[in-house]
Amino acid sequence: MPTCQNCHTEWSWKETMKASMILDTRMTCPHCQQAQYTSKQTHKRFMIYTPIMLVFVIFLPQIIDLSLTATIAFAVFLIIATLSATPLLLNLSNEEEFLFDKD
Ligand SMILES: [Zn+2]
Repeated sequence: MPTCQNCHTEWSWKETMKASMILDTRMTCPHCQQAQYTSKQTHKRFMIYTPIMLVFVIFLPQIIDLSLTATIAFAVFLIIATLSATPLLLNLSNEEEFLFDKD
């Protein structure tokens, strides 16, 4: 689970899900109310994980010849699994970190 880099309190799964639902890299710590950001390491993890997930969703149903209903169910399952796993993959930072340096 992610730990706030300001107050060093570990966020619960529910707190992490609530904080990460905002479509922004800035999240507010539920304990100290300070801004926390997704770490560079987390950006890297998602950059590797997302294409793998897309390949699974697009090609696996064709390879094992799944029906359309089974494919949709499989895609929904993967989306829910990914969202549920987000708190386990997320690391926090006190400052906004970019995957690629701006200069
Ligand atoms: Zn905090």
